[in-house]
Amino acid sequence: MEKYNLPNLLYEYNALEPYMSEQVLILHHTKHHQAYVNSANDLITKLEDARKNNLELDFKSISKALSFNIAGHILHEIFWKIMAPESSGKNKPSIKDTPKISEQIEKDFGGFDRFKKEFSETAKSVEGSGWALLTWHKEHGNLNIIQIEKHNVNLYPEQKILLALDVWEHSYYLDYKNDRAKFVENWWNIVNWQEVNHRFTQI
Ligand code: MN
Repeated sequence: MEKYNLPNLLYEYNALEPYMSEQVLILHHTKHHQAYVNSANDLITKLEDARKNNLELDFKSISKALSFNIAGHILHEIFWKIMAPESSGKNKPSIKDTPKISEQIEKDFGGFDRFKKEFSETAKSVEGSGWALLTWHKEHGNLNIIQIEKHNVNLYPEQKILLALDVWEHSYYLDYKNDRAKFVENWWNIVNWQEVNHRFTQI
């Protein structure tokens, strides 16, 4: 099986300041994300060895650990991509610049402000560690906001992830202490709406 790799960021570590500090971004990318990649790869190696040598495995625990680490890796990959420096000019959704996602948000939520409020409340109310996601259910033709616990709990099938916000403490604690609400509020300044729109046009 192919192994997972830590992707490079498309911007400098200090590029998301003042909303996300260089220190937080370095630790988050090179320590936390890297750890999920390493753990996923270790588990895959373990599976491969067991298959090759016909060994017994605890499939319950290995399945849980794989789900946690692979989901952690994939969500972080998306998280890095859907952010961009404020100076890039990609941070404002509009019918002109990001028409497809803007129109769908209008249709499903009745307006961007309502969407932003629902998404922010979803992120702020995660118990412990988790994420808020905006997803597209193609077969049903609608956007959903999903609250994830850890990296992998509460996700439902057939959802294409368009936008992801990491509200684990490692994402904000050094910058905002316990004020997750302030982090969520500031994070909107560094969302890369061109990338979100691009993800939506790819489906
Ligand atoms: Mn994280």
